Amino acid sequence: MRTPARKLPEERLEGIGVCQGVAIGTVFLVDDPRGRIVRVFLPSEQLDAEIARFREAVRIAQRQVQEATDRLRAALGGERVYILETHLLMLKDYSIGQQVENFIRENQANAEWAVRDVTNHLLDVYAQITDDYLRERGSDIVDVSHRLIKILSGTKTRDLNELAVGAIIIADDLLPSVAADLDPRRVLGFVTNVGGWASHTSIIARSLNIPAVVGVRDITSRVRSGETIIIDGTTGAVIINPSPETYRFYSEQRERQQQQQLHDIEERELPAVTRDGYEVKLRANIELMDEIDVFQRFNAAGIGLYRSEFLYSQSATGLPTEDEQYEAYKFLAEMSGKEGAVIRTFDLGGDKLHLEGFKPERNPALGLRAIRLSLSIQHIFRTQIRAILRAAEHSDEGVRLKILLPFVSNLDEIREAKQIIADAERELRAERMPHAEDVEIGVMVEVPAAVIMAEPLAREADFFSLGTNDLTQSVLAVDRGNENVNALFDPLHPAVLRAIKFVSDAAQRMRIPINVCGEMASNPAQVIILLGLGLRDLSMTPSAIPAIRRLVRSIDLNTAQNLAAHAIALTTPAEVHRYVQAHLSDLGAQFMASAHFTHFVS
Ligand code: PEP
Ligand code: MG
Repeated sequence: MRTPARKLPEERLEGIGVCQGVAIGTVFLVDDPRGRIVRVFLPSEQLDAEIARFREAVRIAQRQVQEATDRLRAALGGERVYILETHLLMLKDYSIGQQVENFIRENQANAEWAVRDVTNHLLDVYAQITDDYLRERGSDIVDVSHRLIKILSGTKTRDLNELAVGAIIIADDLLPSVAADLDPRRVLGFVTNVGGWASHTSIIARSLNIPAVVGVRDITSRVRSGETIIIDGTTGAVIINPSPETYRFYSEQRERQQQQQLHDIEERELPAVTRDGYEVKLRANIELMDEIDVFQRFNAAGIGLYRSEFLYSQSATGLPTEDEQYEAYKFLAEMSGKEGAVIRTFDLGGDKLHLEGFKPERNPALGLRAIRLSLSIQHIFRTQIRAILRAAEHSDEGVRLKILLPFVSNLDEIREAKQIIADAERELRAERMPHAEDVEIGVMVEVPAAVIMAEPLAREADFFSLGTNDLTQSVLAVDRGNENVNALFDPLHPAVLRAIKFVSDAAQRMRIPINVCGEMASNPAQVIILLGLGLRDLSMTPSAIPAIRRLVRSIDLNTAQNLAAHAIALTTPAEVHRYVQAHLSDLGAQFMASAHFTHFVS
């Protein structure tokens, strides 16, 4: 991109940098989290065709909902299908369709825009209703309208990926599944009004390794499509219409980062061993199959967490078949080498992804998600388990896959899941289908109940995986994706540190392996504390591996232990931050120079 001729004054905003790196590009402003609605004025001669396009979308939507209803009825019985039946009724409602068509004609608008407008109008009407039940039906209208817009705009984020190369997406929010579909060859980065460091959209930005800034609050009202924008995913700075001096400054910074990346590749073979000789496992968290090459580029010790729910969001039907899953898990087993891969059973629900037929919940982070959902839809869970067991078939190097159960809050959940796994083994045996029977079953420790019950849980589990994202969220009662409380989402809060130590000590006493797979493991300052608390097995976003490798190689475990012992005895997060910051200078000048590092401790 050329240095822009400056017309408008430079404007600086600030948010939360969630994936490091500088991106310089052109604003593409999108209207909704799905990124599909753009206002187009149509010439009058195109209006009939636009209405025909809308009618066709309604037909496709009806067919999809009917198919989903049939599928769900087969998988779950009649219990859940009433929601989809309501959707079908709405799609058949003549008056709603008529309103959309009138809007298209009267405003010479594209169908996506018309659907959005009519939906907003209906939602206003529903908001006035005093009856709770009827008012709640507003969420069904939103669902139906999203479906129509998705069909009208083509599959997934087609619009976003058809952008000119060099776009920076600006949106109120991006759904994790939409972010997961972005093409990093075209989209240089994104900025959103909402969000937090550990939200799933931010995690996806790090998987794709594209600079991103979230929680800028009013970015969508400050920019226009086509403007030049710079984002710094390390510091959270966003600069609109940069001056030539600013432009030059960030261009140089971007060049330095590119050189650093080359340097990282040179260091990829260096062992992750502390100065006093302790090995630390650096594994990769994987969400998308495309990430596999990144994982190899950074020389990860296998896959410490595969977030299988993204397989569901990327499957055309929303429910990948056993064979589709088998292929995916087999691929992961093969790619992850002798260290293998940990397949976390689907953590659908929460702020991530939803299955058809399940209504959005009022408080999804505490709702019917993860293992709770798995146990309530056992057919679907069993399909996933069968696929994992088949893919985990023995190789020369032994079983390369492990199963990880997310969001466990009760021992009975593990027992019930194990029963389903045993049933699946029996079925596969009876069918003479090749599979493994001694797959290890791990438990994610990420809710306070699991921390408190760590010892009895350890008797049921082959290993623990500390999910510090949900753990921080639930110990501190702070929504991980809410920019309003972002400053309170703090894994260095002494309460979180004490919870981690409690679990780490329990795992050691019970002699079961424990790793950390939350975002703390990607954050150098926090990793020092983790090491000091006894954790030596870390799974992180692959692009964080070089920085963590450098950190590990630059410290003594002894120093980390002293630091952690002191930090954990402090009583406020501010004291911990001041203390860690003040003592980091002991830890090697080379590492301290990294912007990544200093950013995280402030
Ligand atoms: C966590 O909660 O720390 C975790 C690794 O899982 P997720 O971020 O997918 O909820
Ligand atoms: Mg979690």
